[in-house]
Order: sequence, then C-alpha cells, then structure tokens
Amino acid sequence: MDTAEFRRRGKEMVDYVADYLENIESRQVYPDVQPGYLRTLIPEDAPQEPETYEDVVKDIERVIMPGVTHWHSPYFFAYFPTANSFPALLADMLSGAIGCIGFSWAASPACTELETVMLDWLGKMLKLPEEFLAGTEGKGGGVIQGTASEATLVALLAARSRILKRILNDDPEKQEANIISRLVAYSSDQAHSSVERAALIGGVKMKKIPTDCKFAVRGEAFQKILEEDKAAGLIPFYFCATLGTTPSCAFDRITEIGPICNAEQLWLHIDAAYAGSAFICPEFRPLLDGVEFADSFNFNPHKWMLVNFDCSTMWVKNRSDIIGAFKMDPLYLKHDHQESGTHWQIPLGRRFRSLKMWFVFRMYGLRGLQEHIRKVPLALIVLVSSQGSNELNEALLKKINSARTIHLVPCQLAGRFVLRFAVCSRTTESRHVQEAWAHISKLATELLHQPSH
Ligand SMILES: *Cc1c(COP(=O)(O)O)cnc(C)c1O
Repeated sequence: MDTAEFRRRGKEMVDYVADYLENIESRQVYPDVQPGYLRTLIPEDAPQEPETYEDVVKDIERVIMPGVTHWHSPYFFAYFPTANSFPALLADMLSGAIGCIGFSWAASPACTELETVMLDWLGKMLKLPEEFLAGTEGKGGGVIQGTASEATLVALLAARSRILKRILNDDPEKQEANIISRLVAYSSDQAHSSVERAALIGGVKMKKIPTDCKFAVRGEAFQKILEEDKAAGLIPFYFCATLGTTPSCAFDRITEIGPICNAEQLWLHIDAAYAGSAFICPEFRPLLDGVEFADSFNFNPHKWMLVNFDCSTMWVKNRSDIIGAFKMDPLYLKHDHQESGTHWQIPLGRRFRSLKMWFVFRMYGLRGLQEHIRKVPLALIVLVSSQGSNELNEALLKKINSARTIHLVPCQLAGRFVLRFAVCSRTTESRHVQEAWAHISKLATELLHQPSH
C-alpha cells in the first residue's frame, strides 16, 4: 500500500468505523457462534502471495463480525464499561503513526513528558493530595499502566522490595528467602481476582479480610487479623483496598484502614479501576477520602472516562519506591534525564498512550467528562430474583443470554449466584435500560411458570 492508497483507504475505514458505531444497536449484542467457528472460515496458512486490501476488507463482515461481542452496543450490560470515544480513536491513530517506543525520555521526549503532565492534569481533576503529583519538583507522580492488574502487581512488587530493604537495613544478617516466606499481603474478600494473582506472581501469601454487611472492609476486621499474623511471626507488608468492587461496587473504608497501614508501615494500594472516574465529580469525591493515607492509587480511564483501552492510570507518593524496585541501567538506556516510564512498569516498551488522554480531556473538558459520569452514575445493579434459588437465577441468566437481546454476566455475592447489570455503552439511553428490564421481567415470569420450578 502506498501513501496515495493509504489516504483513500484510511478515509474508507473511518467511514466503516463511523457506520459500525452509528448502527451498532441493530447488531445482535452477543454472537451466535460456537467455539472454533473462525478456523473453518479462513485458510489454514497465511497467503504465499500478497492479497489486495479489498480481499481483506470484505472478510471483516464474513469472518470477524459474526464472532464479535459488541461491547459498545447499548444492550451490552455485562462486566464493566470499556471506554470508546471518537477523540480517543483519532488519537490512537496518530499514536500508531508516530509509532515510538517511549521507554526513556530520549526515546521520545514528547511521549514521556505528555504522560507526566496528563497524569498531573488527571490527578488534579480527582483532587488527589499534592504528594501524588509530579509537578516540577514533587516526589510523587503518575504513570500509565496497561491494566489495573499490572498496577496492583507493580505496587505489590514495590512494597515487597521496600520492606526487604527496610528489614535488611536494620539487620543485614537476615536471610532474604526467610523474610519473603513470612511476608503477608491483604485485600478484601470482594477484591478482583487480579489482586490474588498479583500475590501469586509476587510469590507472597495473601489473606482476604472478611467484609461487613455492605461488602466493605472495616478497620476493626483488618486490625484483628493483622495482630494475629504478627503474633504468629508473619510480616504484614501490603494492603490492596478496593473502591468500587467488581461484584457489587462496594467501597472499603480507607479512612479506617489507612491509619492502620501507616502506623504499621504497610504499603496501602487503592484499586478503584471502575469507580475511580466518578471522583472527578465533587458529589462523588468523598468516596475517595482517605486516599491521603495511600502509597499508590490506580483507576482505569479506559473503563468509564472515554479513553479507549488500554489506559490504567497509577499514582505513587514516592516514585523512588517504584523506581528503586525495578530499575535496570543498561548502557542504551542511560542519558541525562532519568525520569522516564520504563522504571515504573514491567515491560520495557511503552506506546504513546497519553495522546488519547490529551485529546479526550481537551475535547470534552472537565465539564463534559462530569456530564458523562452523571448520565449513569455508578451504574451497577445486582439483580436477584426474590423467589429465587441459585439454580433459578442461573437458569434466568442462561435464558437471558441465549435470547441474545441483551448481555449480562453473573457474580457470587455472599454465597449467592446473582446477575450483574452494568450500564456500559456511551450511547445507552434510559429507553434501552427500560427495554432490558421489560425483557428480563418477561423471561423471569416465563421461567417461574415452567412446571420444573
Ligand atoms: C475491572 C477491574 C479490575 C481489572 O481491570 P484490568 O484493567 O482489566 O486489569 C480490577 N479491579 C477492579 C475493582 C475492577 O473493577
């Protein structure tokens, strides 16, 4: 493809994308295909000879679309939202064109610098404490990670490295392996599975703190387990609190947990992957009170802030904690300006992801972003049929998803199988939710009148 054809095809692709998104409502939200469907539709080997662009494009509707779950359909109510906006799509195109790998400042100064400034902009929108901002001489700062899972892991690894250093500083005779075997991390019993996985990857124990009747971790419950563990010779070092849990959007009481973590020198990380976007609205900001006790804070603008995947923003109070844990200095990364993202994350390579934040923040403005949040504030509902056993709820979900009109996923909540209903698409209007509710009610009534129930 030469430049002239790229100009033409690029415009055609923009039209295709615009049509796709404009008419997405008419596509079936959840596909009908069976596992392995795609292999039968395309050749077993890559083509020997080049094909034309037309050849490729005509297979989008034949091969790809029949197997797409349309996350941006207004009838998609599963998981959590994933962001999609035109400014972000365009910025991603530019990022692809620049195509830099911003692993150091010198590898592309604009990539590193825009990211630092965007994280400060966003940190200010959230009214994060000053210590989390880089400013021109602050000790904190933010970085874009790919996902919340990575942020949780990075924080855990940094915490592990910090405690090891502290203990070995006090007593250089201690064995590192012995210390690591006694480390213990904590989270809520409602935390996302990625939190437990971070401990697994980090090679440390993790304990789940039981939650109260609102599915929140309280200070007292945490303190009790902490004391038991210390008495048993364990070394508590990390707490991952959740603001907006995945099953029910519950908020751990960080105002209670935070002071305990600070007094005991535990690293407090906050995972607000979904709910974090809401904190740009003054009326939701109180839910973030207590963040001043945290060492690190993370949420996903790629969920609810109109910045397409992947964009998970993470702030730390003390960036030397993170840089200290991950720093490697091969000669090709050495240069005068060391404040680059490479030392803040697991991979070396990083895309120019801050461009999409810049486009979105400027073209929506804080006011536009707040309006987007207020359109469907913290829109996660958990549905349980009041007459229902777990089996009945399971049967209802199956009936809903096989009808293909809307798409939902379940979760476990206090031992019950429940249906989660999350408003996801930027284009969902109240009529879609009303239609969905009528549809669910109808299927539930049918189910209750079947003789087997
Ligand atoms: C969605 C979610 C995650 C996982 O996010 P990724 O960015 O996909 O890793 C983690 N924690 C919470 C609370 C979530 O809602």
